Parts: sequence; C-alpha cells; structure tokens
Amino acid sequence: MRILIVEDDPVLADGLTRSLRQAEFAVDCVHDGEAADHILTAQNYDLVILDLGLPKLGGFDVLKRMRRRGAAAPVLILTARDALSDRVKGLDLGADDYLTKPFDLPELEARVRALIRRGQTGGSAFLTHGPLILDTSGRRATLNGLPLELSAREIGVLEVLMLRSGRVVSKEQLAAQLYGWDEEVGANAIEVYVHRLRKKVESAGVAIRTIRGLGYLLEKNA
Ligand code: CA
Repeated sequence: MRILIVEDDPVLADGLTRSLRQAEFAVDCVHDGEAADHILTAQNYDLVILDLGLPKLGGFDVLKRMRRRGAAAPVLILTARDALSDRVKGLDLGADDYLTKPFDLPELEARVRALIRRGQTGGSAFLTHGPLILDTSGRRATLNGLPLELSAREIGVLEVLMLRSGRVVSKEQLAAQLYGWDEEVGANAIEVYVHRLRKKVESAGVAIRTIRGLGYLLEKNA
C-alpha cells in the first residue's frame, strides 16, 4: 500500500517515512504544498498524510485541489494547530481524520491502517479468498485455517492481488504498491515474490496466473 507524506519539518518527515516503511508501506515524501499538488496529479495513493502549515501551497489548498480533481484517497491531516476550527475546516474539505502534533507513532500507524482499510475494504481488516484469509492489520495469512509462512513483501504482493482479485495486476502496479520512488527495486524482485507466493498457495487450489506481457491474476473462484 502506497502512502504520500506531505510534511515540511525534515525531522518529522524523516521519522514518519522510516517508521511507515518499517511497517511495510511504500512511502513517498514531499516537503511543500506545490510538490504535493504535482505528485498527486500523477500518482495514485492509498493514503495521504498531510501537514497544514506548508510552504508554497497550504495543506487546505492541497486538499481542496485534490478533492476537486475527484481523488478519493483518504487524507489524514497532521497539524500543530489545536484549533477546533482547523479540524472542522479540514473535515469539511474532505479530510478523513486528523492528528494533532505531537503524536505517538503507534497511534499514527493505527490510524493509517484504519483509514487504508476503510478506503479499500469498507473497514474490515480481513481479506478472504477461498481458503485463504489475510489479516491486513496483523500482517498474517492463513490457508485452510493454518498459519502461512510469508515474508513481509510476499504479504504485500498477496494483499494487492487479493484486493484486485479477478483483475490483472501489472508488475509495475505491484512495484508501485511495495516500494517508494527512492527505493531500489531489483529487476526480478516482483517475479520472485509472486513465484514464492504461488508455490505456497497452489496446493490449496488458489491460482495466481501469469498473464504474459500483462501481469498477474488471482483467479476469482478459488
Ligand atoms: Ca509544517
């Protein structure tokens, strides 16, 4: 799942980026409102973490423009301002949640997961595909009720395939969900993850098909 952080305080931006990457999100970070506005016209995100006090273009304007373009990604506002009017204005403009600085990283992470879930699955932490169940919050999967040994990246691949089951997902789309733009992606990394994942689930009749030249497909009826 891919997150954009818009925060001009370099220390906070860096800390957020690192902790969310550790939590296995693909994270991009920009430091002013204009850069945020540009990247949001070009790239889809599963969540935007948005500071309000930003250089060049304020957070409220970034949010306003984003919603005017019809971008539906959930937005979590970060603000030092504790004023009730700011929160109300943010929510009125289409923000989904807010956190007042300073905040605890575990709380931020919990809200991030809740918001992404709300956007993707209508609130449930669990994705089900035949005998396969993925707990997107606990980052665990079971197959026929038994724990499935998966690496963090394999879980990431599985999550994207399950969210889009029955549709072809390209290698580029998978990479975009797993890596930020400044992270190195090995040439065959996605193929390797899909290959390993396939071997672990195929015995239970869960088929991940390779569609040549297009990508991968989690067969709808497992
Ligand atoms: Ca700021």
